[in-house]
Amino acid sequence: MDVTRFDEPLKLAVGAKTAAPLESALGIATVGELLRHYPRRYAERGELTPIASLEHDDHVTVVGRVSAVQRRPMKNRQGTWLDVEVTDGKDRLRLAFFGKGAFVAEQRLQPGTEATFSGKVNVFVASNGTKRRSLAHPDYVTEDEETSEEFATAPVPIYPSAQNLASWKIQRAVRTVLDVLDLDDPLPAELRRRLRLPGLADALRDIHRPRDFGDVARATKRLKFDEAFLLQAVLVRRRIAAAALPARARPGKPDGLLADFDARLPFKLTEGQRAVGEEIAADLAVEHPMHRLLQGEVGAGKTVVALRAMLQVVDSGGQAALLAPTEVLAQQHHRSIVTMLGDLAGGGMFGGTGVALLTGSMGAAARRANLLDAASGAAGIVVGTHALLQDKVQFADLGLIVVDEQHRFGVEQRDALREKSQGGRPHVLVMTATPIPRTVAMTVFGDLEVSTLSQLPSGRAPITSHVVPAAEKPHYLERTWERIREEVGLGRQAYIVCPRIGDQEGDEGDLSAADDSERRPPLAVIEVAEMLATGPLNGLNVAVLHGKLPPEEKDAIMRSFTRGETDVLVATTVIEVGVDVRNASVMVIMDADRFGVSQLHQLRGRVGRGGLPGLCLLVTDALPETPARARLDAVAATLDGFELSRVDLEQRREGDVLGAAQSGRKSSLRMLQLLRDEDVIETARQEALALMAEDPLLESHPQLKAELDAMVADERAEFLEKT
Ligand code: ADP
Ligand code: MG
Repeated sequence: MDVTRFDEPLKLAVGAKTAAPLESALGIATVGELLRHYPRRYAERGELTPIASLEHDDHVTVVGRVSAVQRRPMKNRQGTWLDVEVTDGKDRLRLAFFGKGAFVAEQRLQPGTEATFSGKVNVFVASNGTKRRSLAHPDYVTEDEETSEEFATAPVPIYPSAQNLASWKIQRAVRTVLDVLDLDDPLPAELRRRLRLPGLADALRDIHRPRDFGDVARATKRLKFDEAFLLQAVLVRRRIAAAALPARARPGKPDGLLADFDARLPFKLTEGQRAVGEEIAADLAVEHPMHRLLQGEVGAGKTVVALRAMLQVVDSGGQAALLAPTEVLAQQHHRSIVTMLGDLAGGGMFGGTGVALLTGSMGAAARRANLLDAASGAAGIVVGTHALLQDKVQFADLGLIVVDEQHRFGVEQRDALREKSQGGRPHVLVMTATPIPRTVAMTVFGDLEVSTLSQLPSGRAPITSHVVPAAEKPHYLERTWERIREEVGLGRQAYIVCPRIGDQEGDEGDLSAADDSERRPPLAVIEVAEMLATGPLNGLNVAVLHGKLPPEEKDAIMRSFTRGETDVLVATTVIEVGVDVRNASVMVIMDADRFGVSQLHQLRGRVGRGGLPGLCLLVTDALPETPARARLDAVAATLDGFELSRVDLEQRREGDVLGAAQSGRKSSLRMLQLLRDEDVIETARQEALALMAEDPLLESHPQLKAELDAMVADERAEFLEKT
């Protein structure tokens, strides 16, 4: 009977006896799951596995040559066991067989026999210090048994090993299925021809049973493309569906608040701000919800763009909510929006609009007043933290949600806020200052349109960055403090960031690398502030800011710094995102190696904002030529956030990049790598867009539609399991 479907139960195709161990060891239950379990690598015939590379407790598949076979008496019992020694030409591996297995092995394993063995490695260190390795009663196939079925020169697939499941057992099950495989190809034939991709059944045959490495390469190309294409097709389809939802159009009005605001703007919008502004204005003016991501370097001026969008919505009788990741940032947004609006804020006789603030910890009276303003519509703009997501918060007519610094918000939170709009979906604008490569953006935010502000407002002075190697060159650190005194002497201000709060338990813990017990604890805000205030920065006005302070205090400290009353602010990463004090010119980051690349870049963006040249000093004990130091050198060497995000991504696992909410997507990627396969993803995206522009419901591609549906169902199931 032919296998024609991926979802066919494996036991029907290969029999229950073969299927059972595959299911229990690898969770493989269908034909598709088996065929998508690709070899981890290929061994060439005659190539022996290096025995010295085998680690204790690993389940391995080893190709070796039998060098000695000996019967030995059991230690504590009657009888004998079979001691087989295998070599890779250099090191030795010992195999022990007992009982009936010993008799069979004695027949089949002669000195000189080459065979593939599979089992769990045991490593022990002998009294003379050498490592001895053994496998207890391993499974094996000898070379003649194996090559009889295949070309003598074909690469041997080696599957990821699993408990009690030898690689060749997987190989045999795969062969059984491949022999009867008769699949329709989900990719349109025209597309395959154009991109020179082999058919799916051929690719699967070649990846599992290649005749040579050329087969492997061709098959890999096709299977990679499939992953990229299916993923992009799901995202494109989701985008088409979202764009078809109803929303209220918010076209604005000719002589409304936005026009007034533009007229009194103290600077000229950059070309990028104008272009993106037009895209957004057009999105808002139609009866379908906008889903747009606004990417832009730190300081690129995203806030103005967002505010203009909010005013357009207010001009159309709706409300806009701005969601910020931290309390400090929400307060700052509120402050700067009120400032930018001038007498357009507050509503009343000037015909402006109310700007409300809602954070988790505000006083009950203020909170009640702001809640009321949101519910009555008196506040056209509502700024807040997660507190905005609570059930109690109601809006009169929520038309636009702006999410600042996307990377701290999950998809679920965006959705929670969306539900607050009755009658149609609100428009959504997501802003991020952490630029990510296009391919990652397409995958993580593939259901969003992406706009990028690549140009910084003119008049922005460049930021100079240096690494300060405090351990090797202590006088550089002294010079750092002198530099701060000089800047303060010129009437400017400085930030000093430390990884830890200090002086208390349960620190902010926003640093994954900080709990390495072998290193000294990271420098702490409270201690550093005290050391500086009584030492090198004696006489300057030094303040401390961190997440554990009561919100009113945090706000007061930020205000005082914003007004220039504080010279030096020693802080944790609470100042990482969005904080905007134009008079600050120096950023010193202590223990800089404890921060991630994009975090450093974000922090650095806090200076050089007011036309003053910015200086960023990365203080570290990391020694030259270490990876930590290399990262810091990379940060010091470029201001290009896109380039830095690549440095960052290359050092992290892709699962982390995709984030928890995307784990379902990750699980469908076996071959594809987001960074290395940029071209594949880009092509797949274009093809998916083109295909669905013509046939959005995929009516003429039922096979493809079925695969997409299955993928979405999996993703949903996984999501439900997590919540
Ligand atoms: P970010 O993109 O990091 O959120 P902001 O919106 O906070 O950047 O803008 C940074 C600073 O640049 C703000 O003080 C803002 O007022 C100013 N700014 C924004 N656009 C312009 C412009 N076109 N010309 C001059 N200054 C601008
Ligand atoms: Mg900002």
